[in-house]
Amino acid sequence: MTAGRGRRYERMHLSDMKGYTPGTQPGAASIKLNTNENPFPPSPKVMAALANVSARALQRYPDPIASGFREAAANLHHVPLDQIIATNGGDELLRLALTTYVDPGRAIGVVTPGYGVYSVLSHIHQAPLSPVPLQEDWTLPSSATDQWNDDGAQLVILTNPHAPSGTLFPFDVVERVAANFSGVLLIDEAYVDFVEPALRYDTTALASRYPNILLLRTLSKGYSLAGIRLAYGLGCSKLIAPMLEKTKDSYNIDAIAQQLGRVALEDRAYACLCWQQVLQERRRLTSGLEELGFKVERSQANFVLASPPRHSPSNARELKDKLQDRDIYTRWFDEQELHDRLRISIGTSDENIALLTALRDLTCAAS
Ligand code: PMP
Repeated sequence: MTAGRGRRYERMHLSDMKGYTPGTQPGAASIKLNTNENPFPPSPKVMAALANVSARALQRYPDPIASGFREAAANLHHVPLDQIIATNGGDELLRLALTTYVDPGRAIGVVTPGYGVYSVLSHIHQAPLSPVPLQEDWTLPSSATDQWNDDGAQLVILTNPHAPSGTLFPFDVVERVAANFSGVLLIDEAYVDFVEPALRYDTTALASRYPNILLLRTLSKGYSLAGIRLAYGLGCSKLIAPMLEKTKDSYNIDAIAQQLGRVALEDRAYACLCWQQVLQERRRLTSGLEELGFKVERSQANFVLASPPRHSPSNARELKDKLQDRDIYTRWFDEQELHDRLRISIGTSDENIALLTALRDLTCAAS
């Protein structure tokens, strides 16, 4: 008999765990509105930099601490370099935050529903979640911080704008959590670039005032670079140093990502134009869905969460499947509180029109 046949090698606590399953990857010609990417291409300056990547950059190890990219991020936010860490996507920053600030067995505060990766990481790290269900209008219960403190949480992850609702916790709510929570508050701002500028939501100043705040920013959404896996954390140097010096992988950002990321941040004017267009499309898509009878949450992100009209012959899951039959991909979550909703990324104008046309067909079929 072959030694070890039939034996499981993974650690016991992983054996019954379900991993995070990202949205399906359809063909290039499909309308892909299921993983909240930017519908517009990266800056032409980024594409030019890609064409100029040297052989040497590929031959040698990259800068282990991504100084050039971090410098661009530090300049952008007017903070010193030691307040920035570059990570392999926002997901790596989340993992680093757990391994750096949370002892196994201690709690991690989150709100529910939320980004599925949080619970997967908590399971791997054997640090239980302390979940606070959001209220029906997606606001944070006033007791949330007390619960997290009482549960002994060492880390709270607050997604703002929240995913999957897209709603924004107001600045003063975030500040109150930072002031009253005894551990590290990671504000996952993956979608912050799509907040209406008129709301003047900007937490970078907060991060200078509260030494327990760590901001997560990603280039996947706002800068159309989901394919290169690049994000950064911003916080006081005491929070950043242990991740930068001890817990990150030795060369966590590849040479191409470092170069392109820097160019992308420096061409903020291009990114801002894309954000404006996404905001315009978000308004159009929201009113188009509402005209069809959908209930749409007030989103400040590059996606909307929408419940199908009462008269619709198909529920949300069926709609997701029927859209997929027409090569349009949206997201449905197998979680009780999200069952009657579809999460739809904001696409280009043509994509949003195609989606609305298909939904008009599908929801009015039997009415
Ligand atoms: N946080 C949230 C809420 C997200 O939705 C995502 C991406 N799906 C991330 C973080 C991580 O994004 P990335 O790893 O692409 O930077």
